Amino acid sequence: MNPVILDLEWNQPMSRDKTVTEPVVLNGEIIRIGAVRFSEDMEILDTFSICVRPKFYKKIHFAVGRVTGLESSSLTYGQPFPAAFDKFMKFCGDDPCILVWGTEDERVLRTNLAVHGIDDTVLKRFIDIQVIFARRVTKDNRQYGVSAAIEHYGLPLDLKAHDALNDAIYTYRIAKQMQVMQYIPDEYEKILTEIEEEKRLQRELRFYRTFPGIESIQAGMKDRKITLCRCPECKGRMTRTKFTFISEKKAIAYAKCDDDGEYLVTLKFSLCPDGKYDVTRSFTIPSAQQRDEYDRQIAVSGQ
Ligand SMILES: [Zn+2]
Repeated sequence: MNPVILDLEWNQPMSRDKTVTEPVVLNGEIIRIGAVRFSEDMEILDTFSICVRPKFYKKIHFAVGRVTGLESSSLTYGQPFPAAFDKFMKFCGDDPCILVWGTEDERVLRTNLAVHGIDDTVLKRFIDIQVIFARRVTKDNRQYGVSAAIEHYGLPLDLKAHDALNDAIYTYRIAKQMQVMQYIPDEYEKILTEIEEEKRLQRELRFYRTFPGIESIQAGMKDRKITLCRCPECKGRMTRTKFTFISEKKAIAYAKCDDDGEYLVTLKFSLCPDGKYDVTRSFTIPSAQQRDEYDRQIAVSGQ
């Protein structure tokens, strides 16, 4: 395995209508590639730096210019992207393990490959050092920039930042402090599983939630935080029918999101020993039978 830290600089389209959208939406066109290859015991073996001459966004976006110090004239030289990528892959050697800070660089690189019609399956999934840092070093799950992590370790800021190779070197220094290879691959897999599980729980909580300590059924039906339905998928506003009781302690309604479709909303009241109620609200995809049941109830209650 050849561990390689990669950092990219990219230019942005001047405006939305100048954005390339086929075959993919190109939000960033790569203009610099920097990389550091190191041994498994974290010694630098080689560095890589290349200027990429953009094909689509040839004028520097003011925000990119401000951060990188590059001008439009800095984009007139260098290699076309396919040749630059080829050189980068040769630099990586066999079986590269590409490490990056955050998730942006992988996304941008794959989009650039797609726009040039280059197969990206040669690249295995990248390792995000940032997420390892936030979950195993600071353990606060916050998003840290490279400079914040440099500061965390009290490392020198002696290189000009926002230069692809310098940023790759900074990232390498952080990785060395972290002894990053100890997390790869097993602990990294665990982190990704943790994140997936957290996402799943959050999603479940949106679909299925209990509101405790509600005084009465009437009070529950008047409680906006219970009855106001936001789409469990996109959190957007939904239109909802009136709630109808299908039993003494169970009310249902239909709610609809323009993007995600229709949900059956169920409020279930359960009486607690203290005389108050727990209200469980759930969003489910209604069956035809449930739809019929609801329509019948509405007809019976004369609404
Ligand atoms: Zn929705």
